[in-house]
Amino acid sequence: MYLCEQCKQQVPANSSSYLFPLQIRKKAYPKRSKVNKYHHNHRLEYRDDRGGEGFEWVKALRVCPDCYQQLTKHSSLNKKE
Ligand SMILES: [Zn+2]
Repeated sequence: MYLCEQCKQQVPANSSSYLFPLQIRKKAYPKRSKVNKYHHNHRLEYRDDRGGEGFEWVKALRVCPDCYQQLTKHSSLNKKE
C-alpha cells in the first residue's frame, strides 16, 4: 500500500509501484586503478576500472501502474530512435 506521487491516490496492497525518472543528467565516472579483485592461478590479482560516461537519475517519482503507462507514453526520455 502506498501513495502514488502523480495522482496522489492510495494504491491497494500487493500492487507494484514503478519509479519514473523525471530528470536525468550525464555522469562521467573516473578511471580507477587496481580496484577489481580476482583470482588467477590461486593468486589474488587486481585489474583497473576503465571508468566512462553514463546517465544518472536526478529526480524520480514513485507511481502506480496506470500513471506509469501514461507517463511513458508522453515521455521523451524512453523513446529510442
Ligand atoms: Zn497514480
